Amino acid sequence: MCGKPTTKRICTKCINDMYEPVRSSNNIYHCTHYYKSSKMIKMYKYASHPSFSKIMGEMLCKLFIDLKIPEEVYTVTFIPSNKKSYYEKGFIPAKEIAKHFAKYFDFELKELLINKSKKRHAEMTQNERLNSVNFEIIKKVPKNIIIIDDVYTSGASMNTAIELLNTNTIGLTFAKTR
Ligand SMILES: [Zn+2]
Repeated sequence: MCGKPTTKRICTKCINDMYEPVRSSNNIYHCTHYYKSSKMIKMYKYASHPSFSKIMGEMLCKLFIDLKIPEEVYTVTFIPSNKKSYYEKGFIPAKEIAKHFAKYFDFELKELLINKSKKRHAEMTQNERLNSVNFEIIKKVPKNIIIIDDVYTSGASMNTAIELLNTNTIGLTFAKTR
């Protein structure tokens, strides 16, 4: 991003500069703002660079440690992509990030929700997004959950998922727009 030669896709300084925790509500937190990280997120989601999931996952681990949330055994889950998005990308962005996060803390990763929406969120207006979220629970819901997503925009997905899971749930996303 800064142009400095590095063996990694992005240098350590650029990663550290990106970190700027922000909170949306008392249980939804983000590592950074979208304007600081959009270049990397776009490469991750749309240019097939799933390797960025490690950087994003590691930053979410740092966020979780910095938040000093009471220690519990958490089950990690993620906001599911719809079928069309998964078919196009070949991976579920939030799931790859969640894998790194769960592994670091030795939490169990469970796919708790499926996305039954037909249209991709990226193709919708804010109002369409708010009305289009269509998740369904597919497994027994554990007691304490951390739900992960890459980007928080309208908050429709995250808030709907938290409401649906209806248990002690912390939402973590890598970036927040606006
Ligand atoms: Zn750099």
